[in-house]
Parts: sequence; structure tokens; C-alpha cells
Amino acid sequence: MSLNTEWQSRKEQATTRGVGVLTQVFAARAENSEIWDVEGKRYIDFAGGIGVLNTGHRHPKVMAAVAGQLEKFTHTCYQVMPYPGYVALAEKLNEITPGRFPKKTSFFSTGAEAVENAVKIARAATGRSGIIAFSGAFHGRTMMAMALTGKVAPYKAGFGPFPPEIYHAPFPIELHGVSVEEALHAINTLFKADIDPTRVAAVIIEPVQGEGGFYVAPPKLMRRLRELCDEHGMLLIADEIQSGFARTGKLFAMEHYGIDPDIIVTAKSLAGGFPLSAVTGRADVMDAAPSGGLGGTYAGSPVAIAAALAVIEVIRDERLVERANQLGGEIKSLLGRLQADLPQIAEVRGLGAMIGVEFADAKTREPDSLFAKRVQARALEDGLLLLTCGIHFNVIRFLMPLTVPDTVFAEALQILERSIRAAVKAE
Ligand code: PMP
Repeated sequence: MSLNTEWQSRKEQATTRGVGVLTQVFAARAENSEIWDVEGKRYIDFAGGIGVLNTGHRHPKVMAAVAGQLEKFTHTCYQVMPYPGYVALAEKLNEITPGRFPKKTSFFSTGAEAVENAVKIARAATGRSGIIAFSGAFHGRTMMAMALTGKVAPYKAGFGPFPPEIYHAPFPIELHGVSVEEALHAINTLFKADIDPTRVAAVIIEPVQGEGGFYVAPPKLMRRLRELCDEHGMLLIADEIQSGFARTGKLFAMEHYGIDPDIIVTAKSLAGGFPLSAVTGRADVMDAAPSGGLGGTYAGSPVAIAAALAVIEVIRDERLVERANQLGGEIKSLLGRLQADLPQIAEVRGLGAMIGVEFADAKTREPDSLFAKRVQARALEDGLLLLTCGIHFNVIRFLMPLTVPDTVFAEALQILERSIRAAVKAE
């Protein structure tokens, strides 16, 4: 038995089925945009641990910052004895997130936890309970975050009942026949049929849907949401957990819209592989939660915070915003070229390096998840890790480190092209 199959059978005995796992190979080590498994096979990592590694695996500056922190202390619990890094990172996020108004930040450990706390803060600040989210959205796996999530299988099936006062509006996707007008009309209908807007605390939206399929929110939708929030005293929460930290060719995706959310939720690439999330927002809103109402034993781990302070410097010093636009441009041009003679490619879309390619059946034009799976499986065989997404599982998304060297990137694009062509042949 090989090491991978050995570990796989031990895994099946010892761990739960509910944690779905893409590959049956086990990681041994990783460096920047590459991972090696326990048998020594190399993979180019275009998954980035699901969008966590915009600065790559083990960036030397991030590692040095973490090593420095390990020499000092690893945990005090911020609520017991605070530390300067927490304050310095809060100042940094208050400065670099969209919105030129006074802001404050709280730290947590996971994306879902930050979403939960953004909802708590919005409710405390408005004295209201309703939350509007979108179909296809993904906000996490804890009870409230799961309830906000707009995708049933596999995230919600069998896990209800969910917390009340959550309403979903359709996310506009022209490709699937849902216009901005329809989405706005549905929100209007919600206000008439389900909940008075004066009882809505917040609207939460991913500016570019992640798990939902890499659909970009149309500017018109975002503008109107901002207006609706202002009109009715609701707060606009941007979930930038996947779209943040240079991925979309801006530091934050909301910058593409010129619209400021009241609260922005970040995690994933914030700390380059260490568990850290943040809620940043208008200072008065953020201070609405009473002392002791927010926090957590590990919330704002000093090790993860040291990593995050280094990550933000790396993004600036290595011009990763520009790099995201360049890498995304190259992916788009390859896929655009393939699309010209492959009807299976229904759409290539995205902002910066947050690019998705959607597959449809060549004849029926129905979403084709099997095709996406074939591309993914073939790429994996050839040493390229790709992720799918979308409520129909028919989109391949690109979340490679923005620090990927040119030669590795070019090699990955060759594997991608071969894998797509192989999937066409296998039809
Ligand atoms: N929001 C978005 C937009 C996400 O992409 C994710 C994770 N995929 C989450 C929330 C939840 O983050 P976590 O898995 O760290 O709880």
C-alpha cells in the first residue's frame, strides 16, 4: 500500500464523512504556489487553501513575523491581557478598508465567526433583527452563517431549523436569466410580503460570490442596495472573506464599486494561512455591542495577528494588486481563446484574479457539473489543484497565490488547457 492509500483508509476509519475532502492525497510540505504529497508528488496549488494564500504558502516575511512572535508569547487571551499587535492591526484595517470615516475593528478566528459577529453588531446597533442575504451566497457553516448561506446542498440539508428573521433575495445572474431589476423587485416584495424594512438590521452581500460561483455583483445592484440601506436605516455588510486582500485586482472588491459598506468582514488571506478573521466598520456601529458581548478565547490570536501584519506589507511591497490583474488577464485570455471553439465554455468572468469559468452542455446549454469535474480530475492527475464552485457545481475558480512565479503559472495554464481539451474529448 502506498502512503496515500494507507492514510486514506485510516482517515476513513477515524474521521467523519461530513467533512468532504477533494483529494485522496495527503500533504507533506508546501512552498509558495506548490504542495508536495507524502509520496513526493508535486502539485501546483490553484486552490490556495480556498483563497487563504494570496501571499503563498510560507511566505518568508510571514514566517519570520510568526517566528518572532513565537519567541515572545503565543496566547494571553486578548480579553485578559491585551497586546499591541491587535491594536496595530485594527488601526491598519481601519485605514485600508473602504470608507473614509472613523472605523473600529474586532478580531475573531474564522470567517463564519466574523459573519456571526457582524450580525450581532448590526442588530445591537440598529435594535432590529431582520437580515437580508442572497441566493447562492456562502457565509459559513455555523448556525447563523449557515442560515444566511443561500445554497442548500451540501451546506444546509438536514441541519435545520435555522435562526429566524433571515430573508433571501435572488442574486442577479444574467447568464441564468436573473436581472438586477428582478433582484430589486424581489427585495421590494420582501418588504411588502415578509418584513417591514424598519425591522431589517442589515443586508449582507459578497461583492463577488465565492462558493456561489464567482458571480460579480452588478454595480447597479450595489448602488441600489446602498440607497435602500440609507433610505431605511439598514446597514450594508460586505462579506469580503474570499474577495479581499488583492484577489480582485483591488485591495478589496468593494473598491470596484466606489461604495462603502458600513461593515466589512474579512478572513482567509488576511493572515496568510493562520486562523484570523475581522469585523471592521463604522466606529459608532462597532461600539454598539456592550463590553463583554464580543470576543472569544482565541479571537485575535497573537500569532495570526503577527502573520497578518506581515501579509499586508507583502501585498504592498510585492504589488500584489497589480499582479492579480496581470494573472487574471492571462487566465481570461487563455479561456477566451478556448471559448472561441469550445461551446462547453459558457462564460469566463471575474474581477482581477478572481476568475471563474462556467461550463454548460454543448447542446442543451444546461449547467454541466460533470464537465467541470472531468477538468478538475484531469488537472489533479497532471499535478494542478483546481476548485469548483457554483450552486450547480459547474464553475472552476482560480485562487492561486498571487506570488506564483511566472514559470509555475505558465505550467499551470498549460495543464489547464490540456485538461479542458481532455474533458471535451471524453464527452
Ligand atoms: N464567507 C465567505 C464569502 C467565504 O468564502 C467563506 C469560506 N469559504 C466564509 C464566509 C466562511 O469562512 P470560514 O470557513 O473561515 O468559516
